[in-house]
Amino acid sequence: MIKKILIANRGEIACRVIKTARKMGVKTVAVYSDADKDALHVSMADESVYIGASAAAESYLVMDKILAAIKDTGADAVHPGYGFLSENKDFANALKKIGVAFIGPNVLAIEAMGDKIASKNLAIDAGVSCVPGHMGLIEDADEAVKIANKVGYPVMIKASAGGGGKGMRVAYTDEEAREGFQSSKNEAKSAFGDDRIFIEKFIESPRHIEIQVLGDKHGNIIHLGERECSIQRRNQKVIEEAPSPFLDEATREKMGAEAIALAAIVDYDSAGTVEFIVDKDMNFYFLEMNTRLQVEHPVTELITGVDLVEQMIRVAGGEKLSLKQKDIKLTGWAIESRIYAEDPYRNFLPSIGRLSRYRPPAEGTTDSGAVVRNDTGVYEGGEISMFYDPMIAKLCTWGEDRSIATHAMRRALDNFQITGVGHNIPFLSAVMEHDRFERGDLTTNYIAEEFPEGFEGVSLNAGHRRKIACCAALMAQMVAQRSANATGVLQGHKRPIPTDLSVEIEGMQYDVHTQRTNGSYLVTSTDGTDKAAIELEISSGWYPGQSLVSAIIDNEPFVFNASPIPEGYRVKYRGADVEVKVRTHVAAKLAKIMPEKVIADTSNLLLCPMPGVIVSILVKEGDEVQDGQALAVVEAMKMENTLRAEKKSTIVKINAGPGDNLAVDEVIMEFES
Ligand code: ADP
Ligand code: ADP
Ligand code: MG
Repeated sequence: MIKKILIANRGEIACRVIKTARKMGVKTVAVYSDADKDALHVSMADESVYIGASAAAESYLVMDKILAAIKDTGADAVHPGYGFLSENKDFANALKKIGVAFIGPNVLAIEAMGDKIASKNLAIDAGVSCVPGHMGLIEDADEAVKIANKVGYPVMIKASAGGGGKGMRVAYTDEEAREGFQSSKNEAKSAFGDDRIFIEKFIESPRHIEIQVLGDKHGNIIHLGERECSIQRRNQKVIEEAPSPFLDEATREKMGAEAIALAAIVDYDSAGTVEFIVDKDMNFYFLEMNTRLQVEHPVTELITGVDLVEQMIRVAGGEKLSLKQKDIKLTGWAIESRIYAEDPYRNFLPSIGRLSRYRPPAEGTTDSGAVVRNDTGVYEGGEISMFYDPMIAKLCTWGEDRSIATHAMRRALDNFQITGVGHNIPFLSAVMEHDRFERGDLTTNYIAEEFPEGFEGVSLNAGHRRKIACCAALMAQMVAQRSANATGVLQGHKRPIPTDLSVEIEGMQYDVHTQRTNGSYLVTSTDGTDKAAIELEISSGWYPGQSLVSAIIDNEPFVFNASPIPEGYRVKYRGADVEVKVRTHVAAKLAKIMPEKVIADTSNLLLCPMPGVIVSILVKEGDEVQDGQALAVVEAMKMENTLRAEKKSTIVKINAGPGDNLAVDEVIMEFES
């Protein structure tokens, strides 16, 4: 029986493991770097050990430091979480040597599955269907082109040691294969210290569906159904759900059986995930096996009721799995939204900063019987640093069916407040409102197809727009009321509070009339097109200064974010980010004849889209460039990003060179205007 677990990780997953350990009465040890000395996982654990500088390569990735912490604290087991040392066979081996339990699979399983080429060869032996390709190493760009032609375009160029969507490029042409080979190789070298590359067929418009498996040291292996993770950007998951809206029972069984067959070949003895891509005809192909707890494991927990971390701890301690395949029942539907510190308006590039506000929605069971779960490792006032993964939280909802889970997710996102860092909540909300998501018609191209120009925000639907207009009028009144109360005391009279207001949103004009009834307001509004003004009954405990506006409108909750701007509010709701102007009718007439502000034109500049380092500049002053031509490569958070020309033009001036550290929006080069 395991008594004390050291968690060789940080952030939400360290907190997640500590929760279960505590529930089981097992003691916990946290490790932390400089950047994490005030982190949540440190305060949650029973003990903590400092392991070095902020860069992971000097702390979380240094085996000797973790081994020393184990010795100092007498921990008898290690949970590695995901990332860092979780799939490092040398680490698992070192633990084995000192008799400390590794809460993960056996060393041989890690070794065999850690390498994409080796695992595919094993999968072929186990009778698992694989993506067709060339399962050997590729030496140079010329060979890459040759093999790409043999496999047939489009191809995926991949790092054998790859993970986290890194070291991976799609190529449709020889030129792209050449360029992709080089950038995959560079990225793989810097991310994994291993730049072996192979090439497989790129399956177009597939779904990503994976099977959760669980094994013990007594030869038992079961599966816990699938998760669909097709909503991805940069080949990385953002929204996952279980079960998949696509699979039928027969395919689920077939995929489950193949996943178990593969796991059995390496005597798999922990929680693990077998990833597949599935084409439109429900043919499925093995991608890779992740020999660890997966980020999106909560959705499986929510539909099976199994605590995967508890199972991992039990089997690592030598217990037999108490669950049989027939005990696994999939109940209801669960969705996970990964909340990232990243800017959806700038191609999802990471952002960093202090969480000046962090208020997640309430966890637990909601009025409609849905469940909200939020896994996080941050707190208000904490910092999202450049050193680690920019994930802020994993917001999950469960409902009896997919539609209930989706509605619960919309509401949970409405109630999530984050300021201080750029984040993707507007994007997640927009997806939850989207028809195609509602239909479950997903592929890994979903984001690229539905947001081809990047995410630019969405428009409010007519119903939501009207509700916001009416709430904004009420809010303006409450502000006026408060200042009337204050000045009234001083001057001995009260200013009249306007009950007739003009509200402008997204170019629409609403005439709003409010009338106080007992405890709530009757608000009538017209946008000029209505035959008769529309009435809403609104009550809200909002007061000036609050940024979350929580109201009950016609007996249904309605929640949005608002911050004051001159003459009104900036409102964020369901992916829309709009200015709402509230004026008296006289002021509204005057506003119409005010000149409009001119916005600076930056279309002839190449701006650095994120804080990062210039790796290379691919053009020189005076060059004529074509639409789509690569101009510069910027590295940020270990990812190389190629910046391309948006139109045909000539380079007039170059302001930056390789090695330069640039801030966001710094000018890299200027084009002829
Ligand atoms: P990682 O180790 O980075 O997770 P994977 O091999 O699991 O790498 O691939 C990550 C994602 O990239 C997949 O979920 C899928 O969307 C996409 N992908 C990978 N290989 C292919 C392929 N051959 N065809 C189409 N998409 C692919
Ligand atoms: P959810 O039910 O998941 O919260 P909805 O978008 O269906 O999400 O509804 C949010 C609120 O807006 C609810 O109060 C709903 O009744 C209202 N609403 C949605 N669409 C409209 C519409 N077109 N006209 C008026 N009210 C709407
Ligand atoms: Mg993967």
